[in-house]
Amino acid sequence: MVTLIPGGGLVCSYLISTSDGLIVVDPGSIGIADAARSFINTLSDRGMHDVRAIVATHFHIDHIGGMKRLLGFCPEGTFVFMHRRVEDYLTHKRDLPRLQGWFSDLPPVAIKSFLRVRRPSQLWVESLAGIPLPGFGTRFHPPIPPQRIKWFCPGNARRCGIGLDGWEIIETPGHTADSISLYNEDTAELICGDFILNLDRDNGRLNRFCESRADILNTYDFLCDTIVPKTIYPGHGDVIRGDQNVLRRVNTF
Ligand SMILES: [Zn+2]
Repeated sequence: MVTLIPGGGLVCSYLISTSDGLIVVDPGSIGIADAARSFINTLSDRGMHDVRAIVATHFHIDHIGGMKRLLGFCPEGTFVFMHRRVEDYLTHKRDLPRLQGWFSDLPPVAIKSFLRVRRPSQLWVESLAGIPLPGFGTRFHPPIPPQRIKWFCPGNARRCGIGLDGWEIIETPGHTADSISLYNEDTAELICGDFILNLDRDNGRLNRFCESRADILNTYDFLCDTIVPKTIYPGHGDVIRGDQNVLRRVNTF
């Protein structure tokens, strides 16, 4: 079961409940980390000691800005899951790629996302890691102990289970090359990060603010051929629900 963590603000952070424990997705600010802890502590049968994993759908500041704080509330066995490519950013083997559409495609998304901010802490971040601009790139690192990070998918697999009920990680490049999504075939739920946004409540649309539109379209075709989600949880905007494969209703370029 997936729940939107109340009080997220700029980004949608989700809580996944599994029989094996909890997963928090995209705690992108200090405010979201605190909101996640408060929310989990209100659950009658769960607590922070049940958090098994924190997932970053991609290495952008609005999705990783509260990870260390949240990790500090979790048990020692909790890991952070990121795409294996992020390790190359942190070891300076690769620079953070640039994005297209800063002037044409980012402003409408940013304005609509900022309208959901209610408190300053929803914008506070713990480091300047994950800003895809010259001068930032790989200069700043997230303050997460490296031994607490697990890289996905291992090897060259594009899709892999994570050992928590039926949840899998699927590589979904396009918005960034290090983008991953979470999918559960049994419940037909897809958490897709910034691959699809739904800020206009129009069944969602592929994110034009991205590294590669060709890669986004390839990812879209790949997902349409391989999964059948009835619920999509986007990184920004409202949840997309339907009786059939809701991916087919998403607006493409
Ligand atoms: Zn985002």
